[in-house]
Amino acid sequence: MMSDSCIFCKIISGEISSKKIFEDGDLMVFHDIHPIAPVHFLIIPKVHGSAGEREIFLAKKISKKIKEKFFPKDIGIVKSKMFGHEIINVIPVNEDENINSKRNPAHIEDLEEIKQELEKEIPKEEPKIIEKIEEFLWLPKRIP
Ligand SMILES: [Zn+2]
Repeated sequence: MMSDSCIFCKIISGEISSKKIFEDGDLMVFHDIHPIAPVHFLIIPKVHGSAGEREIFLAKKISKKIKEKFFPKDIGIVKSKMFGHEIINVIPVNEDENINSKRNPAHIEDLEEIKQELEKEIPKEEPKIIEKIEEFLWLPKRIP
């Protein structure tokens, strides 16, 4: 279901511009414009509801690429929910960032290369998921 007041539906429809790195019929991956770390991606289902295995699969793919390109200490894959969309956040941890860390304006340099590599690697068909989703969820170290 689309909602006139939902900022994510507007991003998905293109009414609000975004730094999109991947999109298909079901989901979209784009750069958080107020990222916690310089490379912070959001993976969201296009309709209101829960993120599924495919979103988690993409989060893992993107995490792997970020590790290879940016060498963070760790990468957080964190679920959040806004305006009815369950969102998968991919957040590199360079210091001790977590989902509640301070946000800064985006630096989008260097992302084009990642975008192109991700587009090559993301399969169009449904991925085979063997592991349980819960194993990849990362819990914040601190509760404020
Ligand atoms: Zn929406």
